[in-house]
Amino acid sequence: MKTAASLLLHACCGPCMTVVCEQLQREGFEITAFFYNPNIHPWKERERRLQTLIDYADSNGINLVIDKEYPLEENIRMLLDAENRCYACFEDRLTATADRARELGIENFSTTLSVSPYQNQSFIMEAGSAASEKSGVRFIYRDFRECYRESIRISREEEMYRQPYCGCVFSERDRYLKLKSPGQI
Ligand code: SF4
Repeated sequence: MKTAASLLLHACCGPCMTVVCEQLQREGFEITAFFYNPNIHPWKERERRLQTLIDYADSNGINLVIDKEYPLEENIRMLLDAENRCYACFEDRLTATADRARELGIENFSTTLSVSPYQNQSFIMEAGSAASEKSGVRFIYRDFRECYRESIRISREEEMYRQPYCGCVFSERDRYLKLKSPGQI
């Protein structure tokens, strides 16, 4: 009998996790979810998104690894110094995922970020490929945008918390000013 290939799935939040996890499981991957999102500001918002993910993982029997570090100062400094803060943000999270997969002996990694129709898919692909090259862990890129509406439907049905902005304090401001983030298309 063929054993399922292991995959560490970077999860930005519960709603995006729903459809992505299901699809990758259908492809035969054995999923471990990974929460590492120091880009979510402020603390309360991060806790709220994390709790939603924990509840979803618990009720669906998904193994979840949580990185409890919250290097807020470093994160803000990194976003401010970056040529394009969204690329830097994807790179940081995908590099951490690839490194954690290697530590855990997991063969592949992927991300729920590509379910969003607002995010720059080329950035996600590029940042994931760079992380894969450095770590030696295979990056599984899928364009999950077709599942976006379904993720909204499921999250509404299950009364999950849906965040009103991308994550960082800059995107929280941009939401009110109706500005696009530099990783948005
Ligand atoms: S807008 Fe979103 S992707 Fe861009 S830096 Fe902020 S949290 Fe990261």
